[in-house]
Amino acid sequence: MQTHRIRTAPSCADDHEPGVLTVEAARSRILEALPPLHGEERMALRSALDRVLSRDIHSTLDVPGHDNSAMDGYALAGDQLPESGFLDLEVIATLPAGSRFDGTCGPGQCVRIMTGAPMPAGTDTVVMQERVLPLEGNRVRIGTGHRRGENVRRAGEDIARGSVVLEAGKRLTPADLGILASIGVGEVNVRRRVRVAFFSTGDELRGIGEPLAEGEVYDSNRYSLHGMLRRLGVEALDLGVVRDEPVALREAFAAAAEMADVVITSGGVSVGEADYTKPILEEMGEMNFWKIAMKPGRPLAFGRLGDALFFGLPGNPVAVMVTFYQFVLPALQQMESGRPWRPLVLEAVSRTPLRKRPGRYEFLRGILRQGEDGSLEVESVGQQGSGILTSMSRGDCFILLDEEQGAVAAGQKVRVQPFAALI
Ligand code: AMP
Ligand code: MG
Repeated sequence: MQTHRIRTAPSCADDHEPGVLTVEAARSRILEALPPLHGEERMALRSALDRVLSRDIHSTLDVPGHDNSAMDGYALAGDQLPESGFLDLEVIATLPAGSRFDGTCGPGQCVRIMTGAPMPAGTDTVVMQERVLPLEGNRVRIGTGHRRGENVRRAGEDIARGSVVLEAGKRLTPADLGILASIGVGEVNVRRRVRVAFFSTGDELRGIGEPLAEGEVYDSNRYSLHGMLRRLGVEALDLGVVRDEPVALREAFAAAAEMADVVITSGGVSVGEADYTKPILEEMGEMNFWKIAMKPGRPLAFGRLGDALFFGLPGNPVAVMVTFYQFVLPALQQMESGRPWRPLVLEAVSRTPLRKRPGRYEFLRGILRQGEDGSLEVESVGQQGSGILTSMSRGDCFILLDEEQGAVAAGQKVRVQPFAALI
């Protein structure tokens, strides 16, 4: 009698099949294949928040522009500071921030000075007001314990004239807007945003507002993708849902590749149901269909569709988010900035035991807390299935359990990646 060779249960060997990529290998292949992004825009400073500088910014100014006082106090020549006893000085002027003292401050004299006011000629030291005793007739008394040069901010100590303040590739933060304003720059050149077209595939998908027949589900991936792309600040083009039909798919792939730098789809890349997608993608571009030793998110299509970069993410809602954060996000970040992007990874003590078998990378969803002593603790959100999208909402971090990692006991340290740092 003929026996069929069927596998009755999943085994560890599944993850050691030839052709299965590690997460790191998949990520580096993606990052190596990124096309350059050309084009820049010039815009007003405020609008440039979160955009990437396309050119180095040189300062034409020193910041601060002059040696100036870091305190409200009295400016004087530091060589007179007493080593014992005290020193009496005549106050010859008062200098608010924003005004200059045109004279010179001589021995036995000082100038009352406010924070930010330029140091008068002849002075190099500010004794703070609280350490000075006012005397009769415009005189003050200073004791010991002062250091020459104290309480003075040097010209150019923050930014030196002629230096590169911010380099091309820098994504502008609130601090950067302040820095640019401090050197009088009101407009900057930034790289154009990456244009990303995305759509969902699947005959079972319905749009919000449509009735659901048995077996049908609402398309949620386009909404989580929309959210992640919005956060990133790329130009996102939502192309809707495409049915698992060759003509419709071919048209959608072509249109997306035409209008965008990057095309992202979800669904239709698993083994067995790639019936249409796989041959169509292969015919239309240079495509790789990867099995990645990871959970969730094992299947991934990656390649070129025309001039566009293509990511075919799996259909399961959690797998979409995990593969987006682990592969698409670093790619988009690097395309825009031209720099490698490394997300923040922290160490935390797991409060719960975690089931895990070696051989594949698992991205569990966790809740991160800071213990009484300031140390970080993480616990699993519970249900970890790749269709349990609420796990991504209840959680605030990925617990990163790499290929070698086995089961984790409560109290053991694990690496975590906070969602808040994934933008
Ligand atoms: P697939 O990768 O196409 O085999 O899809 C895997 C699972 O994810 C199936 O249960 C699909 O119904 C589900 N799925 C695929 N695309 C979406 C989507 N856009 N929104 C919600 N669920 C989806
Ligand atoms: Mg499908």
